Amino acid sequence: MAINLSELTLARAHQRLVAGDISAVALAEAYLATIAAQDEEVHAYVEVYDDVLEQARAADARLKSGEHVTPLTGIPLAIKDNILLEGRTVTAASKILNGYVASFDATAITELKKAGAVFLGRTNMDEFAMGSSTEHSVYGPTKNPRDKSRVPGGSSGGSAAAVAMEGALAALGSDTGGSIRQPADFCGVVGLKPTYGAVSRSGLIAMGSSLDQIGPLTKTVEDAELMFNVLRTHDPLDSTLVSDACYPEHAGESRTKYTIGVPRNFLVEGIDPDVLDVFERSLETLKAAGCIIKDIDLPNVAYALPVYYIIMPAEVSTNLTRFDGVRFGAHIDTTGDLWEDYIATRTQGLGRETRRRIMLGTYVLSAGYYDAYYNKANAVRWMIRQDFARAFGQEGIPHTTGVDVIATPTSPSPAFALGERTSDPLQMYLADIFTVPANIAGIPAISIPSGTVTREGSILPTSLQLAAPWYQEARLFTLGKAFEAARGTI
Ligand code: GLN
Repeated sequence: MAINLSELTLARAHQRLVAGDISAVALAEAYLATIAAQDEEVHAYVEVYDDVLEQARAADARLKSGEHVTPLTGIPLAIKDNILLEGRTVTAASKILNGYVASFDATAITELKKAGAVFLGRTNMDEFAMGSSTEHSVYGPTKNPRDKSRVPGGSSGGSAAAVAMEGALAALGSDTGGSIRQPADFCGVVGLKPTYGAVSRSGLIAMGSSLDQIGPLTKTVEDAELMFNVLRTHDPLDSTLVSDACYPEHAGESRTKYTIGVPRNFLVEGIDPDVLDVFERSLETLKAAGCIIKDIDLPNVAYALPVYYIIMPAEVSTNLTRFDGVRFGAHIDTTGDLWEDYIATRTQGLGRETRRRIMLGTYVLSAGYYDAYYNKANAVRWMIRQDFARAFGQEGIPHTTGVDVIATPTSPSPAFALGERTSDPLQMYLADIFTVPANIAGIPAISIPSGTVTREGSILPTSLQLAAPWYQEARLFTLGKAFEAARGTI
């Protein structure tokens, strides 16, 4: 029986696998066939693994025996090229990691392997996850499957495109300032950035260590929940993981009527009017579903992007010192001394955007400017975090009742054309204006397709972003599913 991939979600595929309607091998074959048909043009993948059917056969054996079957057993996934799989090439889309083979599994991968997932391959991205369009990749750009003249967003553009073109049932991405949610938005899929410290960063090639989180890109909110439940785990290898006490069992939210805060002062500048219209309609949908909409003030959130572009490059500049051509990947041998080899390797091995950020970061951390930039940015980061805490009513301030969730659009515009912003980094950075604050504060946020807008005859997705207090992913799932149901898309 042919499998209609467009009707399939992770949850439905699981039901059919368990019922024996389809096999993991047949499912994997169906995805491999789509990849073969579509990916030459879309270029979501930079490598399709050679052992996919072998993995699927192992999953079938598990399904047959009925032992250790989880919602992810036999589910074909795509993995961003900055998450380590033991024995596999991983490059973060950088020339400097050409030929690097991972010597261990990222903890997220270990958990997915335990659950019996099938890995289809690794996906394209902006080099070291720096970008919003997947154009800063040594492999060349990925195209948006909804309109191939446009970018898929970034940096997890390959993962978003893979799910959007039915080239994977779900994918892993990483999000430092929006790199899961913004490409999810551009490609019309769901993207979740978990609470900082919910998912282990061990085996994720670090960009900004105080901001990075691994998370899922999926077709539905329910699927994102299934993935998150597997990804969240204990791990002695990541000391920033939060304790289990933050996620008590059965903490699932039973209510569906929430108070939703809208930071109106933040929704004025640079947002496309039709994107704002769709957002307003989403608020109406939520209201009709019983939610209360309330304007809120996040006084310092407008500084989130400038703060991000100090803290993130500072962390990038230190994290990327390890790529010196000696310990990992490519090495360029000059006739000079080791110092010259370093310079040649890093100059030729790292792309423009990466070098730009290393220089910015080195500058803000330099002795003379550390206080003026880095320390100041950290102070403002704390104020932004307090703004969120206050809005959620967690400050113990008398007479304030907090909102349960905060809503904004995910991005101020839909997918832009390939090449449109590559020569203007500031325009590129603005694509993340609504996503960066969640990373600055460490709170969870989800992007859910909410409607479409038209650009030059092309119908393009736009999305609603919902952010919740720390550790309250369950609330995002409950409300997100209610929103999908109210929109009637699922
Ligand atoms: N687009 C943002 C940047 O360029 C976010 C990247 C990310 O989340 N990895 O930094």
